[in-house]
Amino acid sequence: MMVAVVVLAYSSYQASTQLAARTAVSVEHSNRVIGQKLIDRIEKVVIDTDRAFFRLVRLDDPQEFRELWRRIVRVSPAVESVIVLDDRQEIVHLIATLDAQKLSRFQDVFEKRVLPDMRLGELPRDSHRHLHKSYDGRPFLLSFIRQRSGDRDYYIALSINIDHLLATIFPREFSKLEETNSIAVLDERGRVLYGSSRDQRLAFRAVFPTTLYKWQLQIEPRQMAALSQEVRARSMTNLILVFGAVAVIVFGMIVLMVAVQRERRANALKSEFIANVSHELKTPLSLIRMFGELLSLGRARDADTAQEYAEIITRESDRLASLIDNVLDFARIERGKAAYEMRPGDLGAVVERALDLCSYRVEQAGVELERELEEVPAVFDESALTLVLLNLVDNALKYGATRGQRVRVRLTSDQGEATLEVIDEGPGISPEEQQDIFERFYRGRAANEGSQRGSGIGLALVSHIAEAHGGRARVRSELGKGATFRVILPLRGGETKPEVRR
Ligand code: ADP
Repeated sequence: MMVAVVVLAYSSYQASTQLAARTAVSVEHSNRVIGQKLIDRIEKVVIDTDRAFFRLVRLDDPQEFRELWRRIVRVSPAVESVIVLDDRQEIVHLIATLDAQKLSRFQDVFEKRVLPDMRLGELPRDSHRHLHKSYDGRPFLLSFIRQRSGDRDYYIALSINIDHLLATIFPREFSKLEETNSIAVLDERGRVLYGSSRDQRLAFRAVFPTTLYKWQLQIEPRQMAALSQEVRARSMTNLILVFGAVAVIVFGMIVLMVAVQRERRANALKSEFIANVSHELKTPLSLIRMFGELLSLGRARDADTAQEYAEIITRESDRLASLIDNVLDFARIERGKAAYEMRPGDLGAVVERALDLCSYRVEQAGVELERELEEVPAVFDESALTLVLLNLVDNALKYGATRGQRVRVRLTSDQGEATLEVIDEGPGISPEEQQDIFERFYRGRAANEGSQRGSGIGLALVSHIAEAHGGRARVRSELGKGATFRVILPLRGGETKPEVRR
């Protein structure tokens, strides 16, 4: 069962993580499609602008070229400067809106650093190329072409205005998609040049293939964060469910094992009980039979001996009767049929009568019985309480008192409760055993060590009867210092149940 639940829980966990993975894949796929389209669009805008400008280039009249391009460079925000080089790669024109000082610095950088990077020698005629690079921390985008004019080849390079790209072209091209996506453009060092980047795991990233090839476009659907959070939360819930199911199963198995253990113990105790009871019945029976036979065969030497035999028979019959009472009462309780006849009366008088019933046993044991009994009016079942007292006194004599010792029986009442105590000066009961001795069929160390007769149901009966009267049975004992058994019964009318059935 455990395996089945774990497999079920695990497969549901797997299903949800697979779903999450598939969602991630499909989001990634759509990001890729959208991202690719954007990149293509930006590239097209840049290339189309280049082409439009290149079409305006007329190299036959240098004067006219200068005038036109001065105007273009001044007016158009897209182009910062135009440079024309001859076939020996010497600058023929350099037109830019810069003051003389800046212009000469620009020319210097261009000739020394930019020009070698353009690798013009490898450029076929009418071919259009781009150079995207940072010089002194400033990004450059150069579009250049090799064109023939008259009988010579020229190279025309346009320096594209990157600020214009970032401030005008990107916002214009991205605006529609930005409603549902976060778009960012990052430079070669990962610095954000445009937009904002949250660096989400599922964001799509790609470089511009031909124009702004040093840069990276990053696109991430706005609901991505919520989506991935939801996916994570769902996986978490599933994980908790798996652990929860395992915990419930483990807990259930522990409960089951404890119950099985208890039942096993109860069965073992039951078998012991049967053996004990049979033994208990046999001993007095064989005595009764033996002395009965002696009497009937007239084997008694004299009248006193016959009297003694008759007393043994009476005593053993009493023992048998009380054992049978105990067993029958217990059996009734076990079947749930014990009924108590609750009547008002004096508890003290009942205890007194019960003690009289034990007097012979007490005398035989050579034990001194001390009684301290109050008159306590209460509502109770007389025969049940007599059984309680007989059992407690019997135990005190069996386990708690040796010849010459004292057993005290006290009945007091205080604050609406009657307390019946049977106190002995015997070996006492260890703390570990104190709870178990009230369990049915349990026989303790005292019983085993002294090979005392018994069935292990006496204290279970006492406890049950006390509870049926709305009270409780307790023991207080220290090893070597005797034991005090206490039965506490409530006295107030409301707390006393007139009749309790189980
Ligand atoms: P039984 O006397 O038939 O064994 P009980 O239910 O009356 O069964 O008692 C359970 C166990 O409690 C006894 O076996 C014994 O070990 C222990 N016990 C009961 N009364 C005393 C006592 N006064 N002193 C020491 N041990 C006791």
